[in-house]
Amino acid sequence: MSSQASSVALVRFDAVAPLRARVSEWKAAGERVVLVPTMGALHRGHLSLVNRGRELGQRVIVSIFVNPTQFGPSEDFSRYPRDTETDLALLAGAGVDAAYLPSVETMYPKDFSTSLTVAGITDGLCGAYRPGHFAGVATVVTKLVNQVQPDIALFGEKDFQQLQVIRRAVRDLDIPVEIGGVPTLREEDGLALSSRNRYLDAEERRIAPIIHRELTRIAEGLRTGKAASPLVAASTDRLTEAGFSTIQYLSVCDADTLAPVEHATGPTRILVAAYLGSTRLIDNVAV
Ligand code: AMP
Repeated sequence: MSSQASSVALVRFDAVAPLRARVSEWKAAGERVVLVPTMGALHRGHLSLVNRGRELGQRVIVSIFVNPTQFGPSEDFSRYPRDTETDLALLAGAGVDAAYLPSVETMYPKDFSTSLTVAGITDGLCGAYRPGHFAGVATVVTKLVNQVQPDIALFGEKDFQQLQVIRRAVRDLDIPVEIGGVPTLREEDGLALSSRNRYLDAEERRIAPIIHRELTRIAEGLRTGKAASPLVAASTDRLTEAGFSTIQYLSVCDADTLAPVEHATGPTRILVAAYLGSTRLIDNVAV
């Protein structure tokens, strides 16, 4: 099917029942259904998840929902970029079958009372700086998966802790969905694509790729057998010199548990969150 032909086929759903009915039809026809949850303000990173979805299944659904419960009181919920028409056009062009855009009332009806806590793996990294964030994420993703009932749900490695938290919740609760991780799509200079990059001014945009350069540098050091602490200290200094104001964390972690490690003896991930002006950037690389 050409992207032209499939661009005609994008159907928008705002409610659960008709979407579920459509998904049931697809599944009854033997088609594998892939869900890509997003908060909109779509970019090529999101589309790489869509493309992976088209490889893995016959039907791809993208949800767009800026989830209020995963933003802290002083975070950017109200100024988070929203551009539904552009997003829908992008999805149509990418051959997506359905867009699901639930309202806040659909997701959180009056007296909504449930929250999913994933313990341990959410203690450190972003979890330490964004109390309640991962409970908000785990709850909304569980809800989206229950609403849509896809065979597969795809998430970006860009939000690596999020991916691991979701894997854990799905495993712990026997949620019948396969979770897939998709590598981070980057600009040519290494900056990970993010909806929040549009907050950066020209000078900040020039500085931002240093974050990936330092992650790569630490990874190379670890590969040659060096210890994490001195590598992290040197990179932290360089990030500060480059103009990053607050480095919330720059950590070398076990890739599964996200517990800090000093040497890369098993699967290892280096993760960072840092402010450039008022913009919080996160990134991570595998060792
Ligand atoms: P968001 O809209 O920021 O919630 O992101 C929706 C999904 O896209 C999440 O699973 C993200 O990890 C993923 N994503 C965001 N940026 C990128 C990127 N640069 N490369 C790959 N996946 C990404």
